[in-house]
Amino acid sequence: MLYENERKQIVEACLEMARKGLVVGTAGNVSIRVGEHVVISPSAVPYEEMTPADVAVVDRAGMQIEGNFRPSSECKLHLSVYANTDAGAITHNHAPASTALGLVVEDEIPVSHYYSMLFGGPIRVAGYSLFGGKKLADEVTAALEGRTAALMSNHGAITIGKSLSQALELLPYLEYVCEIHLRALATGLPVKILSEDEMAEAGAGVAGYGKKEN
Ligand SMILES: [Zn+2]
Repeated sequence: MLYENERKQIVEACLEMARKGLVVGTAGNVSIRVGEHVVISPSAVPYEEMTPADVAVVDRAGMQIEGNFRPSSECKLHLSVYANTDAGAITHNHAPASTALGLVVEDEIPVSHYYSMLFGGPIRVAGYSLFGGKKLADEVTAALEGRTAALMSNHGAITIGKSLSQALELLPYLEYVCEIHLRALATGLPVKILSEDEMAEAGAGVAGYGKKEN
């Protein structure tokens, strides 16, 4: 079996997202880039039943090379991000706070908490397009420029990292930032936003976070 280790990591990552309450059913997908191939979670396989042999291996054009099941329905999105960034791994989910914030914010989440700097600056919100399509892939890829996370309007969220553990580690921070911003908005009071200088200072301060390689 090709990439057995990476395929085990994919199964583990899906289970971890489920344990942390970041996915509903199988509404999340993860992948790892290995050279000219991408190892990606399969479509519609319950996480608790998924085995490494079920995990799909595709080439950079999306042609399936191995795996008992078809690759995730968001395979185009994963391939587009790999083609345009230096990401080594991707996680995508429909966690409640990030999804909710993507329903009400048009372009980007202002930096209200300094954790936003973990993602490279204000988190952008990609415009809505039907799941699984090329237009969504293009929108989300553009929203990720210079960032390690993006929200997807009326859909969910995505994180990228050099390794899968790095992309996974960002998820709870993303959900936290979105949750507190939502709570602050819900008060109806003005939300205090960091200045450019404060953002730069915080960016330098959090540079060591989420950088674990494996
Ligand atoms: Zn999705």
